Amino acid sequence: MPATLDTSLRQGTDALGAALNLDPRESRLDAQILLCHALQQPRSWLAAHDRDPFLPEQAAAFSALLQRRLQGEPIAYILGEREFYSLAFKVTPAVLIPRPETELLVELALERLPADDSVRVLDLGTGSGAVAVTLALHRPLAKVIAVDQSSTALEVARENSQRLGAGNLSLIQSDWYSALNGEKFNLIVSNPPYIAAADPHLTQGDVRFEPASALASGEDGLDDIRTIIQGATAHLKSNGWLLFEHGYDQAAACRKLLAQAGFKQVTSCADLAGIERVSYGLWAS
Ligand code: GLN
Repeated sequence: MPATLDTSLRQGTDALGAALNLDPRESRLDAQILLCHALQQPRSWLAAHDRDPFLPEQAAAFSALLQRRLQGEPIAYILGEREFYSLAFKVTPAVLIPRPETELLVELALERLPADDSVRVLDLGTGSGAVAVTLALHRPLAKVIAVDQSSTALEVARENSQRLGAGNLSLIQSDWYSALNGEKFNLIVSNPPYIAAADPHLTQGDVRFEPASALASGEDGLDDIRTIIQGATAHLKSNGWLLFEHGYDQAAACRKLLAQAGFKQVTSCADLAGIERVSYGLWAS
């Protein structure tokens, strides 16, 4: 009996579940995604073809992908792509993998960006460019500037910007505000690193493969958020907004930092999981 897609899928699912300690639904989904990537077929195709014979070259391609996942490598790096805000972003190990909760940051920024005005927007630590490209595409009249200190991350952001056609986005290598001189913006947005350096989360699961510089930020995880808030006061126009993502337990500390720096209307918003995930304030001076 030659192997069928279904039997190979079951074997892959079991191996992933055991190696990565995933629940059966997750390991089955991962196995399906990798199988379909190997076969260059959409996942919808699988349902009607699960009894198909599995050809040796297909089995070899699937096995190579499976081996990478069994070592813990995130699915997004194996596929080289991740969807964010209904757009397909290229991702490499040089950038953080875009997360669904970061879509909240984009939504809150879009609410504060008029569609009929040429506002200036700054994205700090852009990584793959997911936030900046999405904002640029949804606000074609805006001028979006995105910075990152990593040149390899900026290459990924540049490719995403070009592929997705964000003509109103400029990418600049900069350690936070350092290359921006006296430029001022109507809105500053950031998904900075915010995990405490000793947090055991950093040594588990997908994040082990992501750049530490995009994840960890000092003893309490707030080092970069402090830098971003301080710098924003010199880089926001009057009535400009600062919005940033933070950790599940950092909302109160972030509101305090915003208020201490002189921001008004300081607020935190919960993501779909009910976790306060984004805080913002208005620079009214
Ligand atoms: N939310 C991510 C995580 O906990 C971290 C992303 C970030 O530091 N900006 O895995």
